[in-house]
Amino acid sequence: MNNTRLGKFKTKLLRRIRHGNDFMSSSKIKIADEFCQDYKKFLNECKTEREVISFVLAFAKSKGFEEFNPEKTYESGEKIFLANRGKSAVFCVIGKNKTKRGTKLIVSHVDSPRIDLKPNPLYEMNNVSLFKTHYYGGIKKYQWLTLPLALHGRIMLANGKAVDLKIGEDEEDPVFCITDLLPHIGKDMLTKKLAEAFFGENLNAIVGSRKLSIDGETSCQEKDCVRLNILEILNRKYSIVEEDFLSAELELVPAAKARDVGFDRSMIGSYGHDDKVCVYTSFMALLDADCVPEKTTIVGFVDKEEIGSEGNTSMKSRFLEYFVEDLADRDNMKVRHVLSKSKCLSADVNPAFDSNFANYFEQKNSSFINNGVVLTKYTGSLGKNGSSDASAEFLSEIRTFIQKNNILWQTGELGRVDDGGGGTVAKYVANLNVDVVDVGIPVLSMHAPMEVVSKIDVYSAYLTFKNFLQ
Ligand code: MN
Ligand code: MN
Repeated sequence: MNNTRLGKFKTKLLRRIRHGNDFMSSSKIKIADEFCQDYKKFLNECKTEREVISFVLAFAKSKGFEEFNPEKTYESGEKIFLANRGKSAVFCVIGKNKTKRGTKLIVSHVDSPRIDLKPNPLYEMNNVSLFKTHYYGGIKKYQWLTLPLALHGRIMLANGKAVDLKIGEDEEDPVFCITDLLPHIGKDMLTKKLAEAFFGENLNAIVGSRKLSIDGETSCQEKDCVRLNILEILNRKYSIVEEDFLSAELELVPAAKARDVGFDRSMIGSYGHDDKVCVYTSFMALLDADCVPEKTTIVGFVDKEEIGSEGNTSMKSRFLEYFVEDLADRDNMKVRHVLSKSKCLSADVNPAFDSNFANYFEQKNSSFINNGVVLTKYTGSLGKNGSSDASAEFLSEIRTFIQKNNILWQTGELGRVDDGGGGTVAKYVANLNVDVVDVGIPVLSMHAPMEVVSKIDVYSAYLTFKNFLQ
């Protein structure tokens, strides 16, 4: 075989993985960079599930989406939304065929790992006041020590009034912090296993250290005067009394803003790319899709993925199914027939190959940053346990469509065989008898307070979602 023939043979038969730079022109990369400017703003504004949902609801309304009305019939081209308890929502564009040939779905999750406050959080020890916490989602506890943390969330007062807090995001705001031991002492800690060196019960955040002043001059001499001072401040500023913590959802999240990473500014470092990167790209894809789709398209945002998709705002809730049923009823269709003809991209992030931890990845099947949107056939752990494992037929359909639209793409896995793993909402979508596959973005340091993604990949995901929906 001569060299030319060998070249053709290789092009035809070998799978090629390409770096974004070899695939996209400089002008295209510039468009990706610009797209990511607004994504960074979104990340800074939306750190919690409630904040994401408020943001997308307001944005969709400004783009002509109307709240779903169960009494109304809808014509093709109409745009509707339905929110669920402020923590999950669906956005829908009625297609030309309505629900008769099924729907096209993209589902992603709005929650990210974080440090929640316990229902009775405030205490004082040795003249320092702290919050007791219970972490949410899979975290490496040590990563959350000695970080500036912001407090976000909602407190329901006894009179039914909601108080929304966001403290630590403004430059002038105070922040909170979980302390760590200095390296000079506690040498035994350095030789401990990670899981034995840090305890969830010790992830207590410092919130104050001054005593309550009685009359502006003398300090209080009772027990717990530092704690009382915090309660006085909270009461003065937000009308909160201690008991109100019992009816609150308060979350400590990294106070840092999203930043460009690298001299070439090719990446974004931020809290919460998992899974806000898929929320943002799929949402923008729906808003930007410029024609009335054949099939009805639905973009769904669910909560509680990081703790197993439990609860009425999660993917295990029947909220999405009920919504599809409401649409199906209008078309004299049965929801089961609509769902069984529906196709879904479960939009979630994938762990990118990390050369600092090369041993933990199997290179031939890992995703890499700058290699585009990731197609993940299966997740799960220890023998694909707990995975939806997409079919060859559906993968073929999605692969062909991505390639037809000339989008940079790759495949991914969730770490080495026998070495842990995880899951996404795909399996709960699959339970509805919907064809589903995980599609997403490679992330470095997933679940850390600062996760890293590549701008080219973010844009490739946006293009994938947009072309899927239109
Ligand atoms: Mn995720
Ligand atoms: Mn996650």
